[in-house]
Amino acid sequence: MKLDYQNIISKVYTDIIAKENFGKVPSYIPELACIDDNKFGINFTDLKHNSFGIGDFEEKFSIQSISKVFALSFVYEKLDEKLWKRVDVEPSGSAFNSLVQLEADCGIPRNPFINAGALVICDILLEICNNPKQELIQFIRDLTGDQQIFFNEKVAASELENSFRNAAMCNFMKSFGNIKSQPDAVIELYCHLCSIEMTCKQLSMSFLYLANLGKTPSNDLQILSSSKAKRLNAILLTCGFYDESGEFSFRVGLPGKSGVGGGIVAIYPQHYCITVWSPKLNEKGNSYRGMKFLEEFTTQTGESIF
Ligand code: GLU
Repeated sequence: MKLDYQNIISKVYTDIIAKENFGKVPSYIPELACIDDNKFGINFTDLKHNSFGIGDFEEKFSIQSISKVFALSFVYEKLDEKLWKRVDVEPSGSAFNSLVQLEADCGIPRNPFINAGALVICDILLEICNNPKQELIQFIRDLTGDQQIFFNEKVAASELENSFRNAAMCNFMKSFGNIKSQPDAVIELYCHLCSIEMTCKQLSMSFLYLANLGKTPSNDLQILSSSKAKRLNAILLTCGFYDESGEFSFRVGLPGKSGVGGGIVAIYPQHYCITVWSPKLNEKGNSYRGMKFLEEFTTQTGESIF
């Protein structure tokens, strides 16, 4: 029987919006704390070009750590497997901005989705690009098929002014030789990466290459080989939700990525991407309603990778 995704999405949306919205918006990036915390949007886009949304799905928000997936894809395609000498592919089991593991692991971050890992990816971008910010944003625009994607300079500046933990991590990794450029330049690029704004609809579009063996379905760009796309999905499944990755896999059963802006993108390989945005975060830093929505969505569709 063919599933009526639109109907399932609007039913789950209506159920969730009727219940209390728990959690809180992060205050450590002041510019993010200004958001209306009752925003709630969903977009579903599949490989057959069906796309629909509900709520605030066409409003731009700060994608924060979701952008780490784009930066990793860009770097992985260029460096191939030697990338993994500088960043590992293991779940961290600790907070996204934790410093403790770095000492035991000699400055090699557990995975590319915790902050330390993304800082190493930014350091690599500085090494391999002439103009990393411009090349990265263009890469994201091309894979989305939409030129209307930008950094938010206010959010980047707000994070930069308060990036004491990220600066500590970056300097610590530099002491182990795993950061090559000046830490200030790495952090500046990292804060810009986190400041990118997109809508739920743009995010679902942009992630379709990961559902489609590495190729964008709209304009046939081979972003990653199919083998690399498989590996990237595997890292998303095991590491995409900080130290709640096991829980997301257990409850939702799809690879995905969250950000402290309240966005979550989940991928059903060979089929579709679904993006949810709701700014209030649970204690692990993932969108409270986003987690609830996706758990209920895959329960009702009966579809997951397992
Ligand atoms: N800009 C955020 C930070 O570095 C990103 C965190 C996230 O979304 O996981 O703390």
